[in-house]
Amino acid sequence: ATAQIGVTGLAVMGRNLARNLARNGFTVAVHNRSPERTRSLVADHGDEGTFVPSESLADFVGSLERPRAVIVMVKAGAPTDAVIDELVPLLEEGDIVVDAGNAHFADTRRREETLREHGLHFVGTGVSGGEEGALLGPSIMPGGSAESYQKLGPIFEKIAAQVDGVACCQHVGPDGAGHFVKMVHNGIEYADMQLIAEAYDLLRAGLGATPGEIAEIFREWNTGELESFLIEITADVLAHTDAASGKPFVDVVLDQAEQKGTGRWTVQIALDLGIPITGIAEATFARSLSGHAGQREAARRTFGDAGEKWQVEDRDAFVEDVRRALLASKIVAYAQGFDQIRAGSREYHWDIDLGGTATIWRGGCIIRARFLDRIREAYDSQPELPTLLVAPYFADAVSDGVPSWRRVVADSARAGVPTPAFSSSLAYFDALRAERLPAALIQGLRDNFGAHTYHRVDREGAFHTLWATADRSEVAG
Ligand code: NDP
Repeated sequence: ATAQIGVTGLAVMGRNLARNLARNGFTVAVHNRSPERTRSLVADHGDEGTFVPSESLADFVGSLERPRAVIVMVKAGAPTDAVIDELVPLLEEGDIVVDAGNAHFADTRRREETLREHGLHFVGTGVSGGEEGALLGPSIMPGGSAESYQKLGPIFEKIAAQVDGVACCQHVGPDGAGHFVKMVHNGIEYADMQLIAEAYDLLRAGLGATPGEIAEIFREWNTGELESFLIEITADVLAHTDAASGKPFVDVVLDQAEQKGTGRWTVQIALDLGIPITGIAEATFARSLSGHAGQREAARRTFGDAGEKWQVEDRDAFVEDVRRALLASKIVAYAQGFDQIRAGSREYHWDIDLGGTATIWRGGCIIRARFLDRIREAYDSQPELPTLLVAPYFADAVSDGVPSWRRVVADSARAGVPTPAFSSSLAYFDALRAERLPAALIQGLRDNFGAHTYHRVDREGAFHTLWATADRSEVAG
């Protein structure tokens, strides 16, 4: 037994993760259900480090030092269970099984409990950064026991992305904490992409600008507060010309966004936890809406062009308005995502460090962005921050952006350009800062039709009004 760590499942992600481990000096046991993938990894990249290939799972397990650490990188769902079931009888007490696929955290909690009964550590680990990240340094979000992290930590921290000498990997918390945080990461990614798409749409409609011109605007934005991987690649995608037609690439792509499910999970869990992640929800629904081609066609035929003609007068001022509205809406999306992590952490007793989470996301992952440093500072200096929006840096950015945000949302509504994420983020902000909400009327209605009772602003206790009586007197609820 010579390998320090093993990877089973050598499709794009597992293959690159194994290469990353080998390139960093670890001896890596490698295995895949179909042995061709194992052979081709060694044939193509055997010179990058030390691989110990096996064609059977038993030989693979046998090639690992104890306690064994096995990374499972197979298709999420039933295949992951199948591989775990095959692995468990081959392992011994204290060994570690890492699931680095995109599992639902509830599955991770179930698997962790089962493996714990066998004396094994099960570590559901979020990995972000796609194929390239896996090879060159991903963002790694490991859950599972603190004990398992003693073995995994030094390895994962070495292969993770590094920002300012700090690894984009930290132990997130027990059982499903890592996969939960990865899920919210993907939810924020949905919101971020929807906001970018809306900003592009606004610039195109308001300025009549070409995708190439808008690419330049995004390139410029990427030198300031908005600097991030997604803004950077937006410029690349918008600047790209389709070779076949000579048209802007973005004009030849079918406008129906697909999804693999992590955004949907994020929204479903937020509903269960009672956390209003409106930006992520709008982004997820916007993707669904885009796919309803039949309804879109019917509505387009019926209503046609329902907005006013939009003619922006001051180009530079409008670009700056959109930039500020984008930043403010993005802050809302992150604030909501971190609220959800805090709520999940409380619900499942994970004790997740929010500042640490922002640290892990600074590099390697899809939502890596300059302002994650600010999020880390905000939660490090005030772990019980009521909402990210009130942390000084973000409060300033939002306050500075409010007039722009209102102009952009109002102008786009008049022009008939849909901005679900921009406008719902603004509504969220206005609802949070309102002195009084119409929720009071909702309570009155609930009491009227269902005797659900209400609380008063001036006295303790629950009350009910006898709505059916002539004098509508109030009684204790
Ligand atoms: P896939 O999700 O396409 O899965 C293919 C791998 O799963 C192959 O190694 C395949 O083996 C194996 N497999 C499938 N069914 C079984 C089974 N019943 N028993 C044993 N092995 C099985 O691979 P990816 O590399 O794209 O992704 C791996 C994981 O990483 C997934 O959970 C994915 O969600 C996650 N992920 C992917 C990212 C990406 O950008 N692609 C980013 C982050 C996470 P065989 O070769 O024998 O068919």
